[in-house]
Amino acid sequence: MTIAFIGLGIMGSPMAANLVKAGYDVVGYDVSAERVAELEARGGKGAAGVAEAVADADVVITMLPDSPQVEEVAPVVVAHGASGLIYLDMSTIRPDTSRWVAREAAAKGVRALDAPVSGGERGAVDGTLSIMVGGDPEDFAAARPVLGALGTTIVHVGPPGAGQTVKAANQLVVGGIYGLVAEAIVLLEASGVDPVAGLDVLAGGLAGSRILDIKRHTMIRREFAPGFRIDLHHKDMGIAVAAAREAGVALPLTAQVAQLVAAARAQGHGSLDHSALLKVVERFNG
Ligand code: NAD
Repeated sequence: MTIAFIGLGIMGSPMAANLVKAGYDVVGYDVSAERVAELEARGGKGAAGVAEAVADADVVITMLPDSPQVEEVAPVVVAHGASGLIYLDMSTIRPDTSRWVAREAAAKGVRALDAPVSGGERGAVDGTLSIMVGGDPEDFAAARPVLGALGTTIVHVGPPGAGQTVKAANQLVVGGIYGLVAEAIVLLEASGVDPVAGLDVLAGGLAGSRILDIKRHTMIRREFAPGFRIDLHHKDMGIAVAAAREAGVALPLTAQVAQLVAAARAQGHGSLDHSALLKVVERFNG
């Protein structure tokens, strides 16, 4: 089976490599020639453009930064893909863009699914991503073996766009936890309590979370190398706020988290890890 993989960045590159390891023929394209060469070195084939990559593919995967890039690439996938093609967009984008892609694809007999992921670069490298999938259940069943080479928690969550809505929910929870862990560190330090001891206790109690488990020590040491960049989380909070408006619900804490992330970006921390929300909370406090 041949898989075309478009967008070989921090996430796409190791994901494509895992598909090669799983025995698929992978044809990759990225606007960066370096990224394509990296895939070739890992056993994949390079293509000169999207149309060439998808021409003989049974499955197409896109892993692009944001909605505008998907709006540019998806029509080429649909125009040049074979009828019956499975098209998995695994980028984090707006749910309404995913619904548009699904409609355009269906009109040409292409089976599109939105399948954004959680788990970060580590999850992409290890093939342990959480994958939330929106689209037709039969198409999901057909795509399931391919997704199994990329992740371990793979759930069909609803119709087209539902995967993106779940990802938006994921990002607002993650942003909220980072913001509150940052406030806990500021409180402990200002009160003269050792934050390492304090957060060790929190991690073992009801406040425990994956974020406390893997990030509390680097946050206390103020190590903010990405990981997941503030710039990308800013995009995702915009998606969450827009999805809430579209659904007609008020999410006051989400709005505040979005503002915290916006402040981190405005303060010049866009390329730091999202745990750098701690810098914003510190700045509130002198
Ligand atoms: P990235 O910027 O490293 O990779 C995106 C790649 O797409 C780049 O290599 C870029 O050259 C390529 N690209 C851009 N436009 C293109 C086009 N028109 N045609 C072909 N290639 C094009 O980003 P990433 O960190 O890999 O993230 C990709 C997506 O996954 C984003 O939507 C992000 O929000 C999401 N995501 C990222 C993480 C993470 O930890 N980095 C975790 C979960 C989800």
